[in-house]
Amino acid sequence: MDLDLVFLGTSGSVPTAKRGLAGTLIRRGGERILVDCGEGTQRQLLRSSVGLVELPEIFLTHYHADHYLGLPGMLKTFALRGREVPLTVYGPPGLNELFGILRRVFGRLSYDLTLVELSPGDGVERADYRIQAFAVEHGLSANGYVLVEAARPGRFDLDEAKRLGVPEGPSFGQLQGGQTVELSDGSTVRPEQVLGPARPGRKVALAGDTRAAESVLEVAREADVLVHEATFSVEERERAEETLHATATSAAELAAAAGVGLLALTHLSNRYFGPEIVREARAIFPQTVVPKDFDIIDVRFPERGGPRLVKGGALGRHEEGEPHDKDGSGDPGERPGGGGGDSDDPALRGDPVGARVGRRDPSDGAR
Ligand SMILES: [Zn+2]
Ligand SMILES: [Zn+2]
Repeated sequence: MDLDLVFLGTSGSVPTAKRGLAGTLIRRGGERILVDCGEGTQRQLLRSSVGLVELPEIFLTHYHADHYLGLPGMLKTFALRGREVPLTVYGPPGLNELFGILRRVFGRLSYDLTLVELSPGDGVERADYRIQAFAVEHGLSANGYVLVEAARPGRFDLDEAKRLGVPEGPSFGQLQGGQTVELSDGSTVRPEQVLGPARPGRKVALAGDTRAAESVLEVAREADVLVHEATFSVEERERAEETLHATATSAAELAAAAGVGLLALTHLSNRYFGPEIVREARAIFPQTVVPKDFDIIDVRFPERGGPRLVKGGALGRHEEGEPHDKDGSGDPGERPGGGGGDSDDPALRGDPVGARVGRRDPSDGAR
């Protein structure tokens, strides 16, 4: 099962020319889960190889404007396309109140919108993973989110299965699925005879905005990936403390104490460009990266090499070679009529503005 993180916005508080506001897409198999939706997130998705897919779930970490202002615009675009797929937005307490205001901005929607307030400890359970909210320290109602996969069955010992006389074919699958198999001579083979010990699933923690906090450390223990903010460098540690943000140093110390596989620092103040932040953190915790917008972290299983940063991994086809038309009019693939006009123009209703139908990953919709 593929699992990765697509960084759509890596700037804190205000955007820069190169970095957008908070937005991280979790892709697991065919599932797409957005965490935070800063201003401009829908356009970042459009510019990426992901496209503006009909996200079924969005998790908000907290209600500072740089983490949710992209939502009303995105919800509106979905409505203009005539979306029918329901959408659930999760967030810490205060979500219903926030949407009391936002509803006046985005108006009527063509799909069902469900709001779910999650307090630390609450979560959503899926067949083979869960996403749980955890406490952070940011001075207001705020969550981090951790995705924890269920343990995987142990390694299947092919040689032992053959030695025991298990015929190749469906019996292998049954054993791997935990079922006892009866052989033609009437004897039985139990799964534990051919399976190694269960292997842990992956764990990815996204802390949102927070100072380096004990509650984050507890959740992040042994995580494959910790995405943590580093708004400031250690030179501005007083400012970080006042504003309840982290420094590259404090985040790296936390990652080292938690023994994470990879630390990804994000939410950089616009006074930094990245290299100074990564240098500072790596002096303490070498397995640190500072993703740029459109970078991906591929969360591979440990036996496949563990998590790694893929630079520009989510750049859209037209982003890579700057393929502007000779007249500079921009994306040659964009359909006429896709832009312009009032966003409330009924003529646009139902038009898949900017949709990339048919260009999803092959894995989309696989489950
Ligand atoms: Zn923020
Ligand atoms: Zn904040």
